[in-house]
Amino acid sequence: FKFSDLNLDPRLLAAIEAIGYEYCTPIQAETLPWTLACQDLIGQAQTGTGKTAAFLITAIQALLETPVPESERFASEPRVLVLAPTRELALQIAKDAEPLCQYTGHTVATVVGGMNYDKQRDQLQNEIVDILVATPGRLIDFLGSQDVFLDQIDILILDEADRMLDMGFIPDVKRIIRRCTPKEERQTLLFSATFNQDVLNLASMWTRNAEFVEI
Ligand code: AMP
Repeated sequence: FKFSDLNLDPRLLAAIEAIGYEYCTPIQAETLPWTLACQDLIGQAQTGTGKTAAFLITAIQALLETPVPESERFASEPRVLVLAPTRELALQIAKDAEPLCQYTGHTVATVVGGMNYDKQRDQLQNEIVDILVATPGRLIDFLGSQDVFLDQIDILILDEADRMLDMGFIPDVKRIIRRCTPKEERQTLLFSATFNQDVLNLASMWTRNAEFVEI
C-alpha cells in the first residue's frame, strides 16, 4: 500500500514524497502497521529491502506523536538510538534519516569510530540530538566520558544484529542497553538478515511482546 494510507504526520509524509517514495516495500508494509502502533518488532530482512526507511519512519512518527517541550530537552540526551555494526552502515542510516527529518526539525547525529572524536563530542555536548546513530565502540567511549546519556531513549533500534554478534560486539551492546530506558518503557526494533538461536536469545532479552516479521 501507499505511505499516504498510513496516517503519518503530514510533515513526515511530505518528506517521504519529496524523497520519491510512494508505495511501501514488502518489509515496510509488513512492519509499519505494528511498529507505528508502538509494538516491539523482530524483523528478518536483508539490506536493499527498505528496512532502514521502515525503522526511521517509525521513529520519526513516534517523535512527532510524543513531542517533548523544548524546555525539557537537553544536549547529550537523544530520544532515538540506532545501533549498527559498521561505520559505513551507520553513516548510511544517518544519511537516510536527514531527508526524512527535513520538515520536522528533528536532528540526527552520528557517533562512529575512525572519525573525528572531538567533533562528535562537541555535537553531543552542545546540540539537542533527537536521533543518534552509533556503532557500539565509540558509543561506549562517550557513555564512559558522560558525553551522552541514554535514559531518555524512547526507541531503540538494533540493525544487523547478526553482524554485531559475528563481530564480537555483543558485550558492548549489552553494556549500552543496560544504560538505556528499560524495555518496558521504550520501543525496541531489532533487524537481522539471519536468525540463529543466539540472535533469537538476544532478541527476546531486549524486546517485549515483539512481533516477528519475515520477508
Ligand atoms: P535498505 O534496505 O534500507 O538499505 O534500502 C534499500 C533502498 O531502497 C534504499 O536505496 C532506499 O532509498 C530504497 N527505498 C526504501 N524504501 C523505498 C520505497 N518505499 N520506495 C522506493 N524505494 C525505497
